[in-house]
Amino acid sequence: MKQRPSFPARLDTAPASVAKKPATSKPAAPQGHGMESSAVRARMVQKLAAGGITDAHVLAAMGAIERHRFVDSALINQAYEDTSLPIGLGQTISKPGVVSRMLELLRNGNNGKLGRVLEIGTGCGYQAAVLSCLATEVYSIERLRGLHDRARDNLRHLRLANLHLLFGDGMVGYPKGAPYAAIIAAAGGEAVPQAWVDQLAVGGRLVAPVVTSGAPGSAGGAQALLVLDKTAQGVRQTLLEAVHFVPLKSGVA
Ligand code: SAH
Repeated sequence: MKQRPSFPARLDTAPASVAKKPATSKPAAPQGHGMESSAVRARMVQKLAAGGITDAHVLAAMGAIERHRFVDSALINQAYEDTSLPIGLGQTISKPGVVSRMLELLRNGNNGKLGRVLEIGTGCGYQAAVLSCLATEVYSIERLRGLHDRARDNLRHLRLANLHLLFGDGMVGYPKGAPYAAIIAAAGGEAVPQAWVDQLAVGGRLVAPVVTSGAPGSAGGAQALLVLDKTAQGVRQTLLEAVHFVPLKSGVA
């Protein structure tokens, strides 16, 4: 990768045109897979829009980040399908539909302006990369050393100066970066840890999967997307559609 990507500046100026011409410097289509990366990504973006994502900045960011670079080479042909895929150590990269939905919710809660954002669950680093197109500063924390290292490798080519990868237990958040305009979790727990609410700015929004049923501590409980808004009057919570995320776990490994 010789050229440094020019977002978010370019995304700010040309979000609507991205479906035709994604803001990548060069389509890095994997050779021998019969896949023209930018065209396949543009089709993915069109499907996201058809599925109800209306935020042009979110669609532009989804069109800009090459998802196939974050998955195992054996899975590259599925990289732009709306499906979660294994990323190793029992974890998964979230579906593009869910990533874009959560990012749209985050931006809606912040009048479209995302300042500092905390992401819990870096995984392969894909969502962190998309977020870095939309936010001023991104802190992304991962509890599994193997994935933290993999994310760093996956993200190297993008040279995203506003993305900070952290190794640690995201259950306690990351107080040094607080307060956050937004917090997004890619793993579902029984409840939202108090530390996250504490580290959210007044006026900020948190989006996270939470377990809504099933035995406490079981991985098989049903989950729903929770939107939590922190206002001067207190915390307002809304439960949205069912989702399926890997469990939020404490400690590092
Ligand atoms: N956004 C990621 C999704 C990764 S899956 C991507 O684009 O690939 C969710 C991740 O959350 C897993 O890697 C898992 O290890 C991590 N995780 C679970 N509990 C955590 C915790 N307490 N702190 C940090 N990361 C956590």
